[in-house]
Amino acid sequence: MVRARSYPEMLSKCANPECSAVFLYLNQGKLFRLETGLMASMEKASRDFNENNSERKLEYFWLCEECSQSMTLAYDRAAGISTRRILTEAAVAAGAS
Ligand SMILES: [Zn+2]
Repeated sequence: MVRARSYPEMLSKCANPECSAVFLYLNQGKLFRLETGLMASMEKASRDFNENNSERKLEYFWLCEECSQSMTLAYDRAAGISTRRILTEAAVAAGAS
């Protein structure tokens, strides 16, 4: 098995790079819709109802059942899509938007 690509089609497998679960059914795991391609300054702008958000790009990602119970997905403009562990209520609050 050759798996050289770091990011194959996201929806074909679990978004956790350390997990190899394959996406089969929508009712399994958790589906995420994340905005990618946003610039740093755009994050504020989007909250300000700026209508110049033509750079917005929505992408879908999937976490398998197992992973979705212990982690969530977040977009970081430096690192791209990354997994975040669900730890405490404080962590949940920090991730709330
Ligand atoms: Zn997984």
